[in-house]
Amino acid sequence: LSDRLGGVFDRLTKQGALSEEDVKTALREVRVALLEADVSLPVARNFIKSVEKKATGAAVTKSVTPGQQVVKIVHDELIQVLAGDSDESGELRIGTPPAPILMVGLQGGGKTTTTAKLAKRLSERDRKRVLMASLDVQRPAAMEQLEVLGKQIGVDTLPIVKGEDPVAIAKRAKTQASLGGYDVYMLDTAGRLSIDEELMSQVEAVRDVVNPRETLLVVDGLTGQDAVNTAENFDERIGISGVVLTRMDGDGRGGAALSMRAVTGKPIKFVGLGEKMDALETFEPERVAGRILGMGDIVALVEKAQQTLEAEQAERMMKRFQKGQFNMNDLKMQLEQMQKMGGMGAMLQMMPGAAKMAKQLDESGMDDSILRQQIALINSMTKKERANPALLQASRKKRIAAGSGLEVSDLNKLLKMQRQMGDMMKKMGKMGKGGMLKQAMS
Ligand code: GDP
Ligand code: MG
Repeated sequence: LSDRLGGVFDRLTKQGALSEEDVKTALREVRVALLEADVSLPVARNFIKSVEKKATGAAVTKSVTPGQQVVKIVHDELIQVLAGDSDESGELRIGTPPAPILMVGLQGGGKTTTTAKLAKRLSERDRKRVLMASLDVQRPAAMEQLEVLGKQIGVDTLPIVKGEDPVAIAKRAKTQASLGGYDVYMLDTAGRLSIDEELMSQVEAVRDVVNPRETLLVVDGLTGQDAVNTAENFDERIGISGVVLTRMDGDGRGGAALSMRAVTGKPIKFVGLGEKMDALETFEPERVAGRILGMGDIVALVEKAQQTLEAEQAERMMKRFQKGQFNMNDLKMQLEQMQKMGGMGAMLQMMPGAAKMAKQLDESGMDDSILRQQIALINSMTKKERANPALLQASRKKRIAAGSGLEVSDLNKLLKMQRQMGDMMKKMGKMGKGGMLKQAMS
């Protein structure tokens, strides 16, 4: 695939903005990659369509081909879709104890294994007291399977009573969890080979008895479109709060994750990475995006080019500053960068040798509202005044302060800052690479 892409990208070497043609050509390859990763066809199609809109007209980083740029845009968009809302963390909602967690899914998807893995995580990492109960009266030895795992990980299981139905077991688990002072009780339900009415109504009855805090659907990540259909069915009927994708340790590229996210909108909370009890991790959108796309080297290449370009821009700016050229336009650019990047520190970090200064400025506590005021002051200056702040005498100062709704004293502070920053930059330059720059970097 990489070879094929290489060929396409070689032909697309125009610079500047991405044309519709660039984007279309590259996205054809991306589409193949998504389908090869087992992303479902309608999801792949929709995803491509949304990226097409975003990518057309986007800037191409110097020394990167348009095709490569498109791949980077695709990669970032994949991460966004996979991550969903930022308030959906992988952590489980426990709240007031005892919290019921209902595990649902088809047979063989990994419910029992995942129940035990999660119980282990909750008890060891989060120091919760956990009780597990198997409601699987269908499969012979299913209850014993959970009991054995419980012993292995040191988590209690509800004693097995032969002949009870799932709802009765759920009730007993609930009572036991309250009486026994457990923080969490996990209900491992029976699965079927496929969705059927009996299964659904059974799970529904259990749900109504315990009112679960989390209902986690456990699905085999290798099953692609089937996994998505299963998720839709369970969500419609039972209502799920999250998904656990198992068998993400295999050869599959995990396209089910994207389909799942796009179709159900439910967060993928964990991924299963093997049969062992600690083979469970929180869902990492970046890692999964990389795997689905399978173009990690191209993404890395574009990121490197972007970093190089930023460093070059910083260097050019630095050269100007060394010559003592630091006017209000420079300051405005710096202030805007600070706004964008969330702090002077981040901006200065990119300039060679300015790390120490970055720290000092960060500590001076310039928050967003001050930045906005300072930019407003500069906006009220004429072009000439910005290029040569020495022009600013009393009457001009009054005009500028009034124009931005601020005081002359605010403007004086800004002027002082511009002078100080200019001096600092110049000094750093004069000391040369062996002197202060080296010192500042240490
Ligand atoms: P259930 O029928 O849904 O309860 O499925 P089980 O928990 O019994 O799991 C079925 C099989 O899948 C077992 O052999 C598990 O060891 C295996 N399994 C579960 N999760 C994973 C996983 O993340 N990776 C791998 N490789 N195997 C898994
Ligand atoms: Mg089971």
